[in-house]
Amino acid sequence: MDYLLTDTGRNDLGALLKVRSLYAFDFDGTLAKIVRDHHAARLARPIRFWLEKLAKRAPTAIISGRSVEDLRSRVGTVVPHLIGNHGSEGPHAHPENMRQVRETSSGWLKLVNERYQDELTRHGVVVENKSYSLSFHYRTAGQRDEARALISRIVAELSPPPRIVLGKSVVNVMPPTASHKGTALLEYMRRLDCALALYVGDDETDEDVFALRDHRILTVRIGKKNESSARYFLKRQTEIAEVLRLLVEVGDQNIHTWSGCHEQGAPRPAQHPNE
Ligand SMILES: [Mg+2]
Repeated sequence: MDYLLTDTGRNDLGALLKVRSLYAFDFDGTLAKIVRDHHAARLARPIRFWLEKLAKRAPTAIISGRSVEDLRSRVGTVVPHLIGNHGSEGPHAHPENMRQVRETSSGWLKLVNERYQDELTRHGVVVENKSYSLSFHYRTAGQRDEARALISRIVAELSPPPRIVLGKSVVNVMPPTASHKGTALLEYMRRLDCALALYVGDDETDEDVFALRDHRILTVRIGKKNESSARYFLKRQTEIAEVLRLLVEVGDQNIHTWSGCHEQGAPRPAQHPNE
């Protein structure tokens, strides 16, 4: 795994600009800083600024564990393609599959609420119903080990057995038939007719994309981690603004870059956010 902001990394980013590419990002910990209160996550001003510029020039997507509705409340119309529930929610998903996934998830929620509501509250675990999956958040739990043990016990009772993806202070459980971030990204590349893609993420769920090891996808992890399958890393979340700025500015230097890429009108020279 190499640092992205080097000559080699910049060259690889530049290669994306030579063809029609999809620029896809995770949300929490990637586009938005991880915050203690899950509801307070938002895009910092420079990130929103450069993301909006990029999205005006090329196909851009967010693939997140949050629901599409939740994402929309945070990014508005800045990014046109929002994919929720770790890849299983969005216009790409098959309606019948989505119905099944929803049904499984609501069955689990019913069991959790009926049997474990009091115990979960006592341990400071918050269950988030994302319609197509459930997330057990324990960031604010007093005894984190106990909270994790309780979550494991509950998850073991869910039927059919879920696909479990561990995040930062969160245990996500997804119906086994739900599509993941990797399958969602490939589907969007196909739908949007993109030859290459960039994907940036920070968490276990993003390994579903990194582990594809598809040569058409430039994979970047926020934070270096030797066990990750990502090709590159960024040292900190705020560096994503630099990546977005690079893509927009380098792309704008070449008149041919965005040809065939536009979704929302012609590019204009980028103004700096502080201007
Ligand atoms: Mg994340």
